Amino acid sequence: MLQTYINPSLSQWPLLTQRATDEDSVIENRVRTILERVRQGGDEALRAITAEIDGRCPESLQVSEDEFAEAAEQVSDELKAAIRQAADNISVFHRAQQVPVVDVHTMPGVHCRRRVVPIRRVGLYIPGGSAPLFSTILMLALPAQIAGCEEIVLCTPCDRLTGKVNSVVLYTAQLCGVHTIYKLGGAQAIAAMAYGTESIRRVYKIFGPGNRYVTKAKQMVSAQGTAIDMPAGPSEVMVMADATAQPAFVAADFLSQAEHGPDSQSILVCNSPDLATQVEAEITRQLALLPRADIATRSLENSRIVVFDDVDTMINFANDYAAEHLIIAMDDAWGIAQLITAAGSIFVGHYSPESAGDYASGTNHTLPTMGLATAYSGIGLDSFMHAITYQELTQAGLNALGGTIIQMAEAEGLDAHANAVKVRLSSEKSLNSESSENSNCPLNKVRPNIAALKPYSTARDEYKGTIGVYLDANENPFENGYNRYPSTTLKGQVRTTIAAKKGVDPSRLFLGNGSDEAIDLLFRIFCRPGVDNVISIAPTYGMYSVCAAINDIEYREVMLGDDFSLPVDKLLAAADAQSKLLFVCSPNNPTANAYSREQLITLVQQFPGIVVVDEAYIDFSSVPSMVELIDEYPNLIVLQTLSKAYGLAGLRMGLAMANERIISIFEQVKYPYNIGADTLALVSRLLETDITPQVQTLIAERERVAAALSALTYVEKVYPSDANFLLVKVERSRELYEFLIARELIVRDRSRTPGCEGTLRITIGTPEENGRLIEELQAYNV
Ligand code: PMP
Repeated sequence: MLQTYINPSLSQWPLLTQRATDEDSVIENRVRTILERVRQGGDEALRAITAEIDGRCPESLQVSEDEFAEAAEQVSDELKAAIRQAADNISVFHRAQQVPVVDVHTMPGVHCRRRVVPIRRVGLYIPGGSAPLFSTILMLALPAQIAGCEEIVLCTPCDRLTGKVNSVVLYTAQLCGVHTIYKLGGAQAIAAMAYGTESIRRVYKIFGPGNRYVTKAKQMVSAQGTAIDMPAGPSEVMVMADATAQPAFVAADFLSQAEHGPDSQSILVCNSPDLATQVEAEITRQLALLPRADIATRSLENSRIVVFDDVDTMINFANDYAAEHLIIAMDDAWGIAQLITAAGSIFVGHYSPESAGDYASGTNHTLPTMGLATAYSGIGLDSFMHAITYQELTQAGLNALGGTIIQMAEAEGLDAHANAVKVRLSSEKSLNSESSENSNCPLNKVRPNIAALKPYSTARDEYKGTIGVYLDANENPFENGYNRYPSTTLKGQVRTTIAAKKGVDPSRLFLGNGSDEAIDLLFRIFCRPGVDNVISIAPTYGMYSVCAAINDIEYREVMLGDDFSLPVDKLLAAADAQSKLLFVCSPNNPTANAYSREQLITLVQQFPGIVVVDEAYIDFSSVPSMVELIDEYPNLIVLQTLSKAYGLAGLRMGLAMANERIISIFEQVKYPYNIGADTLALVSRLLETDITPQVQTLIAERERVAAALSALTYVEKVYPSDANFLLVKVERSRELYEFLIARELIVRDRSRTPGCEGTLRITIGTPEENGRLIEELQAYNV
């Protein structure tokens, strides 16, 4: 019954890998007529064609709510449970196929991004006929849902006599969230989805198997601008088997393919003539028991057995054939699977029948046939998505790349292309000459050896998700959850989330190991040790002077004015050509007050270097953040932190926000993987919590504590606060501090800070903690 070929020569391979197809020009002409009729005649043509082919046309083409409800009742609980389990597995496998956004600077100032988005409207075709393929609905509708397609339309023929759609088809569609179903089959269904009619909206991509008319119609509409999943042909399986294979298993796999249709094909490739004989005997035995034996018998005429002496030739033959389904029933099946370069889906080992993938394991069963598996993939989540690329060049970026573009455009004779760069470069020249005179240009402030650094990115950064084996970073390969360096992809995601919260583009945001890291980096990026100086208000946060000392940078302090007001003129007067940074903490630690936007803008406009506004406490303040000005002022850097309002001090994450150029320098100068994997993972989870209620409570508590303190006779002044702490001036501050310590209440003694003599700094705690503090302070009063 089956043809067996022993060690066929290479010249015979083309014949042996051929599929059973017959091009039929009659079909092509009929389909062309149908497509044209629907395109011109819309709904009326659809009904007429359906009536001509089926003898009648259902009254309403769209499946009604009643029909859905009725169908659900007709499906047995056992079948429903099976469909749900398959749906779960398919969802898990396809959900895991999300591709991350690719976001790289190909060179400084040249920012490229690739993001996938769902195809908005898709159409699914599900054949009716002798075996309604409800499993195909799972394979198409679930990935479409997971991808986020807005509209999913399904066409499937109804029963000619009853006008009803198969109830399992309807139940499955409903389970997958598909509610728009039309009772349409054949080429006319494809035409309706591709062109749209009065009642059916056109879709952008059509998926699903079908008979030769459907396949031809899909091919034809795809030439006219509607995408299709892939060119489809009859189904096929190749089984590779060796002496470890069970003849009964192989024969069953053969027949499961053969029962699909008379044009299906099954091929056994093995390295033993004995096995070939045994499989053949099994096929004869099992075939007799199949209800669809006549179809299978016809299909077996296209099927064959090929025997090679050695496994290498078996593998070459399999790669040549490029099977839709490839079963490897051999010893070391995974080893052989790794050597296969062309197949739709591979079933590895003796217990992985094709049926598992056809229905329920999780992989998709819509796969390339006809040898197309040499270059096509089966359906996956990506089939329902398409990618958009983005780019943004800064002025400096275009300056650096412009010459290359002009060279190439002129060499291709496309002068207008070259010109689109030239006009910008010439306008840039004038801007540049402005900016080199303008000492506020941050690029002029970067230490020369840092400005000369080349950006680096590893192959792992670039190919994350597409290359699987990482032998590039001298890590320990054994998984324990932490054996790899932290994921740059996850960091990118955290950056994107935080950037969105802060209303800035991710390219404007640096994530540091606390904002303390950003402060340290600022010194290292901008200040030449022993040469440059920084300016700061006083009193203020202590890290600025500590970093200055560590980096051997002169630290010039300008005392705050009355009531801690900002001494704008004095700060500007203190600056000279070597003044690289000006630190203004607003709201200021420890004075608790915030400075007005107008005053800060004056500083940004007039200070000859970089102005760093440290907004660690901004969430507790009524003064607006300066973040929205970073694109306007290239010399403005805003620091914030997750340590205060976000309640994540233990994770260590701070933010620096500034123009893209400064941020890219931060990225180059920071040490690699500055943020640990746990911090990234926890931040990405904890950021979802809304901080507003806690911040509101802390602000209310701050006012309550301030009022209670003001009432105490020994309290000389409670300074107004825009932060989550109060600065309080008291008589005998040291004594009060020690009194509180003795009662296990720890506050901060600021008495020895110049400008803060006689003060304590009290952080606002929980309402209970504040209550206790107030009680003790009242007791001290007596
Ligand atoms: N800036 C100011 C004004 C601070 O008060 C602090 C910490 N107290 C920081 C920065 C440091 O914050 P982070 O935890 O992000 O390093």
